Amino acid sequence: MKVQDVHQIMSAWAPPALAWDRDNVGLQVGDPRSRVKGILVSLDPTEESVHEAERSGASLIVTHHPLLFRPLRSVTPASAAARCLELLVRTRIALYSAHTNLDFTREGTSFALASALGLRNVEFLDRPYRLDRKIVTFVPAESADRVAGAMADAGAGIIGNYDHCSFRAEGTGTFRGNAASSPALGRKGTLEKAREVRLEMVAPEWNVEHVVQAMQRSHPYEEVAFDVLPLENPSRNCGMGAVGTLPRPMPLSGFLALVRRTLGTKALRWCGSPRATVSRIALCAGAGGDLVESAIRAGADVFLSADLKYHAFREAERTIALIDAGHFETELPVVGAIVSRLRTEFRRRGERIPVRAARRAENPVRIL
Ligand SMILES: [Zn+2]
Repeated sequence: MKVQDVHQIMSAWAPPALAWDRDNVGLQVGDPRSRVKGILVSLDPTEESVHEAERSGASLIVTHHPLLFRPLRSVTPASAAARCLELLVRTRIALYSAHTNLDFTREGTSFALASALGLRNVEFLDRPYRLDRKIVTFVPAESADRVAGAMADAGAGIIGNYDHCSFRAEGTGTFRGNAASSPALGRKGTLEKAREVRLEMVAPEWNVEHVVQAMQRSHPYEEVAFDVLPLENPSRNCGMGAVGTLPRPMPLSGFLALVRRTLGTKALRWCGSPRATVSRIALCAGAGGDLVESAIRAGADVFLSADLKYHAFREAERTIALIDAGHFETELPVVGAIVSRLRTEFRRRGERIPVRAARRAENPVRIL
């Protein structure tokens, strides 16, 4: 297995196209064709994580936060990022980062936090993306199954828990080939009528090209007619934050204790009535201050996130309980999610590559 194969596994889960424009995700350091001997997963790329990877024989580090984010203007010991970069290059250890694309994908950073807290019926808190496309093609009836199968194998036709979703309607197609044509049906120079199926399947924007190529390869016609249509439906598999319910309602004070215990946060910043019963929990791992309104709209009793501002607490006071449980603490559960995703995928492919979480992940923020 090569670094580029890990990139492909991670991209299928957290497509780089989902990341914020200003973000920098994907392979940060290293050769995509180099062999992966072991993987260390860490929240942050640090010198310590590179040393740990080296000691454990890992040749690839997968992190949530990217190393190269702001422009690196010089590579000198004065910059922590530059020191880490220099160490990665020197030890020939590759670095791959899935940042906001992992935040916005299903089972990503916020879903990992929801799962750590034991929430049930977890869904996205907000689904602002409209990244689904409909691909329509016109195919002779007897070839419809083959073309639909090829499109599905390329990733089209996934709706929630269902795959191979398509719609087919029969109709008549007409065409007349010129002197240079070699039609699969009928003769050139003659107006032909053919019984065709209008075949429709959905696919995410970032996969359209791949699906269209698969469709064209499996299609019997010399010139394939197809439409790619934008859809206004919110995308199902990407969104922001998460919302779910506790297995049993509990007082806010009990939930605060649960958060502290589960995430290991030393000091929570919070507001709300400690005796109020809470059951519906909205959350966003990392800095999620912009989602307070979405949490209120979703009917949540609590919004749990990090890096919340003073004014957010002031505004929320009587509407929703707010909890700031720390950036590091709320995002750390995603490390375990990455480890298990890679292990599962390697097992499925029969690969024996060790994957483990960094042992010495340290919160850079100290609390007195
Ligand atoms: Zn973060």
